[in-house]
Amino acid sequence: MELRLYNTFSRKKENFKPIKDNQVGLYTCGPTVYDFSHIGNFRTFIFEDLLKRWLVHLGYKVNHIMNITDLDDKTIKKAKEEGVDLKELTDRYTSHFMEDLKWLKILPADNYPRATEYIDRMIDMIQTLLDKNYAYKENDGSVYFNISSFKKYGNLAKLDLKGQKRTKRINDDEYDKDSPQDFALWKGWKEADGDNVWKAPWGKGRPGWHVECSVMSIDTLGENFDIHCGGVDNIFPHHENEIAQSECSTGKPFVNYWLHSEFLMVDGGKMSKSLGNYYKIEDLKNMNFSAESIRYQLLSGHYRTKILFSFNKKHESDKIIRRLTDFYLLLYENKPIKSLGKSLPGTYLEFKKAMNDDLNTPRALGIFFDWMKTESKKIKDNLSNTEEISSAWNFLKVFNSIFDFIELNRQEVPENIAAMLEIRKEARRNKDWAYSDQIRESIFNEGWLVEDTPDGQKLKKA
Ligand code: AMP
Ligand code: ZN
Repeated sequence: MELRLYNTFSRKKENFKPIKDNQVGLYTCGPTVYDFSHIGNFRTFIFEDLLKRWLVHLGYKVNHIMNITDLDDKTIKKAKEEGVDLKELTDRYTSHFMEDLKWLKILPADNYPRATEYIDRMIDMIQTLLDKNYAYKENDGSVYFNISSFKKYGNLAKLDLKGQKRTKRINDDEYDKDSPQDFALWKGWKEADGDNVWKAPWGKGRPGWHVECSVMSIDTLGENFDIHCGGVDNIFPHHENEIAQSECSTGKPFVNYWLHSEFLMVDGGKMSKSLGNYYKIEDLKNMNFSAESIRYQLLSGHYRTKILFSFNKKHESDKIIRRLTDFYLLLYENKPIKSLGKSLPGTYLEFKKAMNDDLNTPRALGIFFDWMKTESKKIKDNLSNTEEISSAWNFLKVFNSIFDFIELNRQEVPENIAAMLEIRKEARRNKDWAYSDQIRESIFNEGWLVEDTPDGQKLKKA
């Protein structure tokens, strides 16, 4: 039951084997900080978070790097439009991004390198590519990568370059795979760049977007590392170009596993800033979405299928989150005080198998929810023994360490509140309603709300 991951490079599911035992180097292309990230971007970031959490659950030590693209065509253009320094703009949106990550319960990366901090290293890589004749200079001070100098160019995106006559080169960072062209490693200075300019031996200018990720990933994870992720739109040209630059400059294979998540759609179209059909986290908060409900919508579809984000699905996902939270509280109330042990129910193995099969979340969630339904009934009917409840509790903890769907802000109920609940339970058993109300009041003053239901006391954050 090994972990198998779909490698975009081979278009196959492959057994996952890291370079160093028990350690994984993971690079995920981060946000371009010229504006707020939208929920489509967060689909990709939440998929990467899921992958990381699952690797950690399997016992790997993950070194996760997410870059911050704080220098490219879009950031420069926006700073100019606003009449502010590039740094002022990118600092602002980096901090919004960090707040959104935290709110969505995405675990922080180990390092967030920013492109502007690595310019010297980018100049080194471009110089190496020039020295090895993979790149050439143009009169305006730009440097281009010659894609016909790299035999493997197009292998990731599965392009057939043979017979294609190429007459152009491209200075823009983004273009589609119908027009593979020599691309800019370095962009000679233009007036529109203002003072966003650096000196290189061949002329002043700034790096292209693709070389930024090659340098930041190699610098933080080494010349050959385990996993590189992004959304499907990153396959071409961004990741194709990263492979070309990295492998030609180091002479070594670059990445062992390429993983890409599919698009998040709205009303049949790709959610994107240019189409204007996107939701920011702020918009979703105003629509009363909880982080857990969003996580459920994004993770209940497999990462390699398109999913539709919609307000209509909110009701359904809220209901599922409520059920899970109720189950958590039911188990919490019934869990033995001591000796929880590490046992897990048999269903965990089925769940693990589904997750190990290229993170098959729809199947894993189905397995968990079926089990939860049965288990919940058994507990309510007093048919579960201590051992069973312990392993159910352990399974729920594992489940939540991966999905983070339970609406308690990842906060365990504090010991003192748990003790008060116990006393209150006793008071209610003795029909001492006045004392029970008094304890409820004290619990409320500590920030928790107790509700009495046919299944016992339920606790929620006040
Ligand atoms: P950007 O901030 O534009 O550099 O994008 C950050 C990440 O979001 C990249 O990995 C993109 O592939 C990904 N992305 C952009 N739009 C979508 C979408 N609609 N669905 C899923 N991922 C997306
Ligand atoms: Zn990148």
